[in-house]
Amino acid sequence: MNAPAFAASAVATLDCVADFPILARPVKGKRLVYLDNGATTQKPSSVIEAETRYYEQSNANIHRGVHWLSQHATDLYEQGRERVRQLLNAARSEEIVFTRGTTEAINLVASSWGRSALKTGDEILITGMEHHSNIVPWQMLCEQTGALLKVVPVTDSGEVELDQFRSMLNERTRLVAVAHVSNALGTVNPVAEITQLAHAVGAKVLIDGAQAVAHQVVDVQAIDCDFYAFSAHKLYGPTGIGALYARYDILKDMPPWQGGGDMIYTVSFEGSTYADVPQRFEAGTPNIAGVVGMDAAIQYVQQLGLERIAAHEQFLLDLATAQLAELPGMRLIGTSAHKAAILSFVVEGIHPHDLGTILDTEGVAIRAGHHCAMPLMTRFGIPGTARAAFALYNTADDVTALVAALKIAQKMFG
Ligand code: PLP
Repeated sequence: MNAPAFAASAVATLDCVADFPILARPVKGKRLVYLDNGATTQKPSSVIEAETRYYEQSNANIHRGVHWLSQHATDLYEQGRERVRQLLNAARSEEIVFTRGTTEAINLVASSWGRSALKTGDEILITGMEHHSNIVPWQMLCEQTGALLKVVPVTDSGEVELDQFRSMLNERTRLVAVAHVSNALGTVNPVAEITQLAHAVGAKVLIDGAQAVAHQVVDVQAIDCDFYAFSAHKLYGPTGIGALYARYDILKDMPPWQGGGDMIYTVSFEGSTYADVPQRFEAGTPNIAGVVGMDAAIQYVQQLGLERIAAHEQFLLDLATAQLAELPGMRLIGTSAHKAAILSFVVEGIHPHDLGTILDTEGVAIRAGHHCAMPLMTRFGIPGTARAAFALYNTADDVTALVAALKIAQKMFG
């Protein structure tokens, strides 16, 4: 471990704990050390207050009312769309469709674009490290269309086998769907390179950004992807809201996937015509308060700066990686040099669930299990891992608490 390097980067670390009220509550009589950020992040006061303020001051249904409050709520909702556009650096706000989250965004693409564009014999390429959300919708689409799902293998260090990927691409490949950051390994995939290779054979590219948007700058125009999905709750925002970015020239020709109010232009019993994008994909009353909360969450990370957040989390990752490596029987799953601050590990002689339970008694919240990536666990020959996923409010003290709790667990099982 290079102590001076840590000391130097510590200068650049963030101090945001006070912004997150939940971090002040003890758990089981201990200070809460929340390291389950891959599952969901905690919310700053500004997000909680924005939602409360919305219900106290602005609540109305959008897009349909002539009254002032409805127009005001509509403005807030559309301002949220513009904020997501900025976050992803999309070219235009019509390219942003609100969804319940990453899962719904991927299902939207599978149901709308997928069912209309794919036919028997077409191929979809995913990788061996995908979350179930980026596997199952494509399996369902293949059942519906006769397309074939192919899986690019993962190396021992937890990277996509790029040579294999190149050789699996062909003129039948219609879609490449890949995680920007693996939730189970932390690997940051070379999505721009993957996109370039996929486009060279005419395939579209969907990036699952669930684990990326809160931890690094994302620029969909620089990546050049066709679709990008994320969830607000992993970005310090509310649950039940997220977004799909879809390139305008693709989105404008996609058929609706859910019917109802707000997504139509005209309705008669002889047939209906559909609204322009993105409204065509937002049937029914949406999660307006969720959009307002997501807007506040994006402003929060923008004010801190995603580069600073990334540097802070890199510091924590380096510190935790070095300290965990000193524990006996520790095996890190995912050792790529390109990693976000997610540490997935198994400890010899202790089941991940037991580890999670013992750490909980010390106030340390981690996740244990397959992380919705069962095929990846099979690839590594393990039932699951323990996972510590860091966020902007975590500190060096949290790393110390994690390591101390792991030592207690090892003593109990030793
Ligand atoms: N993709 C990845 C990589 C994830 O980590 C997750 C959630 O853990 C998802 C997709 C699904 O996100 P959500 O449940 O918010 O739709």
